[in-house]
Amino acid sequence: MTDRAYLDWNATTPLRPEAREAMVAALGGPNNPSSVHGEGRHARKLVEAARKTVARLVGAAPGEVIFTSGATEANALALSAGTRGRDGATAERLVISAIEHASVMGGGRFDSSKIAIAPVGAAGVVDLSRLADMLRNRPPALVSVMLANNETGAIQPIGAVADLVHASGGILHVDAVQGFAKIPVNIEELGADLLSLSAHKLGGPSGVGALVLRQGVTVAPLWRGGGQERSRRSGTENVSGMVGFAAAAEAAIAARDGEAQRLAALRANLESGLRATPGAVIFAAEAARLPNTTLVSAPGLKAETAVIAFDLAGIAVSSGSACSSGKVTPSHVLAAMGVTPELAQGAVRLSLGWTTSEGDVARALEAWRKLVGVLPRGPQTAAA
Ligand code: PLP
Repeated sequence: MTDRAYLDWNATTPLRPEAREAMVAALGGPNNPSSVHGEGRHARKLVEAARKTVARLVGAAPGEVIFTSGATEANALALSAGTRGRDGATAERLVISAIEHASVMGGGRFDSSKIAIAPVGAAGVVDLSRLADMLRNRPPALVSVMLANNETGAIQPIGAVADLVHASGGILHVDAVQGFAKIPVNIEELGADLLSLSAHKLGGPSGVGALVLRQGVTVAPLWRGGGQERSRRSGTENVSGMVGFAAAAEAAIAARDGEAQRLAALRANLESGLRATPGAVIFAAEAARLPNTTLVSAPGLKAETAVIAFDLAGIAVSSGSACSSGKVTPSHVLAAMGVTPELAQGAVRLSLGWTTSEGDVARALEAWRKLVGVLPRGPQTAAA
């Protein structure tokens, strides 16, 4: 689509040229890495090179990268009573933060009676003292806290969470989907035992991701089959997807720090323009946030109307969580932060990426000003 401004990068990203090139080279196949012949061995080489790259980029051992169909599957694979921590212990209960992605909120393979929700404060950051209370003098838990929230961009204090979880004998899973390639991610430095990643948030193809384990951590497979991925994820490998994931991640991380600075400056312009309109509220503004994400609302605004108005102006944005866009449900993230339903119903997310320009931001601001009545909307809508 030409002459559009794409501001929905937390939902998905365009394919990076590096990923496309690597994928096109791998797509032809034949690609069955389990075959012993030369063709199979070539496919195996591609998969293991991709695994090595992803492992290096998050500070893990290659053997601890399990490729999956995406982060939804990685989260489902991680969240089970069959997951064993480095000491070999399992956890009978699951504690998740109140702002997790739907694929974590579902609780994986835990029965709903075994799931507890750790609250967040008004800034959208997990409440460490409440989490400590939930872990103290209780049976060890598998705890899942995301690195950065997909709606607000709020970065979570994973190091402090890891200390609490490990002191209580628990296991920590971190959904790092939104943080990976936007901020530094290293499994050891974070103190995570399991880390979920997704390729399509950083310029790779959709339908591929990974669950990364800290050395010594094990998981119970979701299904049985041919024993691929060291029997942790059976099924013939998505070779071109894995190759594209690795190429995109490499390119994204090489550009990460410069892009973070550039996007932070663009976002600062965007937010100062938004704040200049009456009643605009930017959520999680008090928290450390991803440099590319803004979630904004204004009194009386309806997100469905706003998203359509932006779209008609040639700008792609989303309301609340993009993964649930299409159906309009109030954001559980904003509810957990104590935002009133009236304000939450107008929440619009603008998320920036590597093609975003100053012109895109100016265009989004103009559309916003029309939407909130600072500028006239033009002949078609003025009469309505
Ligand atoms: N976790 C977070 C934080 C996400 O934002 C998303 C996608 O929006 C997912 C998990 C799911 O990832 P995938 O689309 O690879 O299944």
